[in-house]
Formats: sequence, C-alpha cells, structure tokens
Amino acid sequence: MILASSKAAQSTSAATAPRNDWREQFRQSFTDPAELLLALELQDLTSQLSADVRRFPMRVPRAYVARMRLGDRTDPLLRQVLPLSAEDQITPGYRLDAVGDHMARTAQGVLQKYHGRALLIATGSCAINCRYCFRRHYPYSEDTAATAGWQQAVRRIAEDASITEVILSGGDPLVLSTHKLRELGDALASIPHVRRLRIHTRLPVVLPARVDAELCDWVRSLNQRVIIVVHVNHAQEIDNDVSVACQHLLSAGASLLNQAVLLKGVNDDPRTLIALSERLIDIGVLPYYLHQLDQVQGAAHFAVDDARARSLMTLLRRQLPGYLVPRLVREIEGEPSKTPLTDGQLT
Ligand SMILES: *Cc1c(COP(=O)(O)O)cnc(C)c1O
Ligand code: SF4
Repeated sequence: MILASSKAAQSTSAATAPRNDWREQFRQSFTDPAELLLALELQDLTSQLSADVRRFPMRVPRAYVARMRLGDRTDPLLRQVLPLSAEDQITPGYRLDAVGDHMARTAQGVLQKYHGRALLIATGSCAINCRYCFRRHYPYSEDTAATAGWQQAVRRIAEDASITEVILSGGDPLVLSTHKLRELGDALASIPHVRRLRIHTRLPVVLPARVDAELCDWVRSLNQRVIIVVHVNHAQEIDNDVSVACQHLLSAGASLLNQAVLLKGVNDDPRTLIALSERLIDIGVLPYYLHQLDQVQGAAHFAVDDARARSLMTLLRRQLPGYLVPRLVREIEGEPSKTPLTDGQLT
C-alpha cells in the first residue's frame, strides 16, 4: 500500500514547528480541495468537486491525509472529507436540522434530549469537516457553552439534580485549549450529582498530537469517571500515532468507546466493519454505536438503506464476540433515546 505520508504530510513538519505542536498542525490542515487532490495524485477528480464549499469548507489535518492511499479515488478516508458535487444535489426528505437540535436547547450551548444527560456544545469547530456530518448546517458559532466561561451551562446543570452525566460535544470539544477545558472541569467538580464526564471527540484519531501531556494530566485530575467516545469509521484510520494517543488516554484513566457512522462507499460491507471492530479492540477501544446516517441535506450519497444495514449487523454478530458488535441506531427527533434497529435477513 502506498500511503501519502511521504509527500503530503511530511512537508508540514520540521522547519516550521515541532511535530508535536497540535495547534500548528491544526493550522496547517488542507483546506483547498484542489491542493489535496494534487498531493494525492488525483488531479483528474478536480472536475467532480462541489461548486460551493463556503458554508462547510473542506478541512483535513495532514496527519489524517498521510493515511490515505496515493492515486486511489475510492480511498475510504478521502471519501469522508472530499467535497464532491454530489453534495450540491437537493434530496427530498433530507433536512437542514436533521436531528432537532434547535428544539432541545435548554441554556446557552446545552442540549437535553435524554434522561440524566446534558450535552454541551463546547465549540462549533472541528479539526476535520466530515462531509456526512449533521453539523454542516447548524449555526453553532452563535451558541456554544464555552462562551463566558461555561457559566450558563454550569448553572443549568447545577440546578438539575437528575443530570448525572455531562457530555462534551460540538463541534469537537478538544479543539478548545486544555486551559478552557480545565475551567469546565473545575466548575463541574463542585456539583455532586455529576458523576460522569463524557467527551465526544475525533481529535485523537484525526490529530493525535492533541493528546499531549497537558491534556492527559487534565483527564487524570478529574474527579468524575471519564468516558471518551472517539469516532473511527474505517480501520485504515488507525495508525501507530492513534494507537499511542489512545494508550495515553487509557493510562490517564479514561474509558474509550467508538462511534462510527455507516457510510456507503466507506464501511458498508461486513469485512470492513469486522476489521474496524478488531482494530479498535487492539488499541483498547470498544465499539459503541454504529449510526445510521442523519438525513441531512448534502449527505444523501452516503446513505445505506435500512435493510442492508440490518443484514450487515446479522453478519457481524455471527463473526464477532458480542462485545465487538456495535449497536446499530438511528436518531429520531423527539424519541427519548437513540432508536435501535434490529438485525435483519441475510441478503
Ligand atoms: C446522542 C446524544 C446523547 C447521548 O446518548 P447516549 O445514548 O447516552 O450515547 C445525549 N444527548 C444528546 C442531545 C444526544 O444527541
Ligand atoms: S468530527 Fe464529528 S462533529 Fe466534526 S465534522 Fe466530523 S462528524 Fe461532524
């Protein structure tokens, strides 16, 4: 396998910044689709790019590009980040606010949909812009919990003793500085009913340098149980740096789970999903959810129909130990939990 590391990624290192400075790596991400295609020797795909990526620009860290295959237009990592013209098609039934986030807001940057859990929109930004993301149309910039030192969010959580778990989500909460995260941790420490802190993040995967000593010290210092839910869709996303980052988080006392999205042309076949589960447990991460795609405008080309999704689950269950079978779920607006899809017929 010829990976892109030799060209695309290494040009970032040495001269300008220490390789382990995650902020510098963040800044040096690819944001120009044509430049990415050039680095991957796929210039002929340029004519298939989306005409309008201003609202949801391309963004992909070089550390992630380094795991893509040169010259492979079907690369499962490339497919997750490359804005293709298929995004410009309007698909009936696909919405802008696919999961009812506007409805579930209870305080600045706080979403409460499910019992016992408050989800904080920590920030609107991510280190990578995944083309299938429901976030692509949400105006997060006006509504994040970290604004003004988390005060509104923390007050809301302190007032409601039924909240036992705080979920940091976004955007990607680890895009915030560790200093900013520490402020939240300190504020939550004084709320006895908060027993768990969960962090939904893709950074340990797409920018493993983010898992630095400072972050691990913070995780270790928290007095709640910490659950970190990473997001990997394909085994090829896991290289040695990702493995080391996860090892550090485990050593800091966190439990590690994975959520994936079932994506056509990325992971919608049994061998790929089996390899993903096995690779995850190799690095100490348990599969948690496999999400059916949120029906968000611009992502329809990633959809896998329910019948196929269910039969994939049947195959996985026959091949893997139970703890390596993720739960296939869909988010339905107004439901009190994610909705499980039962296994289906083999086709
Ligand atoms: C998905 C989600 C959660 C977490 O649900 P779990 O089933 O506990 O993983 C919590 N709050 C909101 C608003 C969510 O969308
Ligand atoms: S990292 Fe998560 S929140 Fe950010 S764009 Fe990707 S799927 Fe969406």
